[in-house]
Amino acid sequence: MKTYWVTGGAGFIGSHLCESLLRDGHKVICVDSFADNYDYRFKVRNVLESLGMEPAFEHRDREDDLRRLQEAANSEQYRLEPADIRDGEALDRLFAACPPDVVVHLAALPGVRASIERPALFYDVNVVGTLRLLEAMRTHGTVKWVCASSSSVYGDNAKVPFEEGDPTGRPISPYAATKKSCELMGYAYRHLFGIDVVMLRFFTVYGERQRPDLAIRKFASLLSDGKPVPMYGDGSTSRDYTYVADIVDGIRHAADYVERHSGVYEIVNLGGSRTVSLARMIETLEQAWGERAAIDRQPMQPGDVLRTYADPAKARTLLGFEPSTPFEKGIERFVSWYRRQKTWEAGLRKPG
Ligand code: NAD
Repeated sequence: MKTYWVTGGAGFIGSHLCESLLRDGHKVICVDSFADNYDYRFKVRNVLESLGMEPAFEHRDREDDLRRLQEAANSEQYRLEPADIRDGEALDRLFAACPPDVVVHLAALPGVRASIERPALFYDVNVVGTLRLLEAMRTHGTVKWVCASSSSVYGDNAKVPFEEGDPTGRPISPYAATKKSCELMGYAYRHLFGIDVVMLRFFTVYGERQRPDLAIRKFASLLSDGKPVPMYGDGSTSRDYTYVADIVDGIRHAADYVERHSGVYEIVNLGGSRTVSLARMIETLEQAWGERAAIDRQPMQPGDVLRTYADPAKARTLLGFEPSTPFEKGIERFVSWYRRQKTWEAGLRKPG
């Protein structure tokens, strides 16, 4: 049994990772500030679902909700810490109380478009926050680090598939620039302080508990309300969609790898290894939903890359990562989860 810190463990990917670690008997310290990138009540629900607890929760106000959530969630095996990674003193206290074997760092403000609206805040959380975490790790002698980067660091890479050695010096959004900065900071801490690092470049992750700002969930919500679904450009932009259970599998392999090796700094793509156009994504969602969508044609969005497509070779050889969920199957699972929770979600949107 190992102890894992999961920063961002109340989020979409983090809650699935916590669930997987707990299922295998590991101890999890979930560090999450319940940031306002989307409604904190989605994250409360993620935590409850990840612990196999009834998602029904009587919401009052944020502070009270988080206190009651901690009371319900905390156990010998799981500790929820509603802390901000920019708070170095809180991290110090927590490292002293709960030293981990491995830190999996997923906490961040994600999203290209939101980063164009709030670039300074994205920089503060994603870059300064990551730096504070690395400093706390160094102070407390924790040297095993897995960190979430993003396919967005490839910018408008013309060559496909994207290999880890391709140029990444030209990010086209503040979000991509913050993720590239984390990669660079990880390298410096490996060089200076012997922290072993695996940086994982995730490619568009989807599945149950997907963030409400991401296209597939937004489109599901529009379909369910009978509203038109936006099609940006001519629908030919494409993404290497990766099912969340496959991403969790890749993170677990990376955590095992970093634990077993010393003196390492690796950057690895975690993608589904095929690319799906926006038009095809909408069709697949329609098929799983069982209804056609009205299409609202919109111009391409600034900061969006034309396509992403991971070369999986390094993930396969270094980590033994083999994504196994076909896109159609992953979408079916997402839709069936979304249908189960949409009444709850609709209730959140009501005023008051
Ligand atoms: P998410 O927003 O659901 O999860 C991130 C979590 O970090 C949230 O629960 C949030 O409350 C927490 N957080 C934010 N600021 C914090 C702070 N200052 N201190 C502590 N916690 C804080 O997003 P996600 O989609 O699960 O993304 C997880 C990670 O994966 C992020 O680093 C993201 O950049 C990266 N990533 C995600 C995707 C994707 O498709 N979802 C793709 C590439 C990279």
